[in-house]
Amino acid sequence: MDAHTLTEARPAGGADPMAAQPPTFLESLLAAGLLIQTGVRGLYGRSAVFEGIADGLNAAFTRIGADQNAEVLRFPPAIGKDDFETSEYLKSFPQLAGTIHSFCGDDRGHRQLLARLEDKQDWTDQQQFTGVVMTPAACYPIYPVIGKRGPLPAEGKIVDVMSYCYRHEPSLEPTRMQLFRQREYVCLGSPERIVAFRELWMERGLAFGRALQLPVEVDVANDPFFGRGGKIVADSQRELKLKFELLIPVNDGAPPTACMSFNYHMDHFGALWHIGLHDGGVAHTGCVGFGIERLVLALLKHHGLDPARWPQAVRETLGGI
Ligand code: ATP
Ligand code: ZN
Repeated sequence: MDAHTLTEARPAGGADPMAAQPPTFLESLLAAGLLIQTGVRGLYGRSAVFEGIADGLNAAFTRIGADQNAEVLRFPPAIGKDDFETSEYLKSFPQLAGTIHSFCGDDRGHRQLLARLEDKQDWTDQQQFTGVVMTPAACYPIYPVIGKRGPLPAEGKIVDVMSYCYRHEPSLEPTRMQLFRQREYVCLGSPERIVAFRELWMERGLAFGRALQLPVEVDVANDPFFGRGGKIVADSQRELKLKFELLIPVNDGAPPTACMSFNYHMDHFGALWHIGLHDGGVAHTGCVGFGIERLVLALLKHHGLDPARWPQAVRETLGGI
């Protein structure tokens, strides 16, 4: 059994195993059937109750964003190799990317594959890269699509996206999953347009968190850029205040968790995918991302595991779940 297929829901070592321990948040979620164990860290099934809360959040984000005239775009949770390479994701986050492999051989190869399985040996080297990569953030598929359409309209553009996203970060913290949903609004246009959009959504995010009666705060943040060089990029991202997060305490004894993020990419994606402004020049972009699972978990943590017993005002904010 490798490090990613453990079934435990509690960090190993430390406490006296004979002493009665209160359940961890993850153990409570599993015991209540809200999350369903698959045997892989960070990969869970969701119950009808969990999904009902997720649907309530999604519907609320649609209502809050109704004035944005956003174009709704939905993609399956994967992108092609070419767009993935163009995104430069491997430069910044090689540790998080997930690629899809498949068996592409003949009958002889198939016999080899089955023999490996039979002998309980590694069979994954019998597979080849399909040219398909798991989507790392919900907004990634839209930039090449918008870039190919030609220059943006004068007022810029807002897109509404939602996708399961993959990140290879197996963890026992229920908030750190390998597959989770991001709902995003993405803004493309002039720098001023993006800054105003981000400002508006930070206010809306805070107001929404307060309406859900959650202890929210917004703080400057950075992405987990890889390696020694990554530290410099992360420091500069913080210094330029390119990323803010809305934080809520969720995990036992851990710092608060980022449940929404407010990102200004400057002209990074605009330049990579040739997204042009209507009067020439490269478009700037920004996105606000709502972590659907993390918000569901924050609600369950603060209001209890049974939504029927949550404060009425909270249930109404979620459209009467
Ligand atoms: P960008 O588009 O600039 O790469 P993003 O906003 O799409 O950034 P993040 O800021 O990394 O991506 O993530 C957005 C939200 O997704 C986070 O605020 C969080 O709520 C959620 N999220 C991120 N990682 C996980 C995870 N491992 N498990 C569950 N939710 C996550
Ligand atoms: Zn994004």
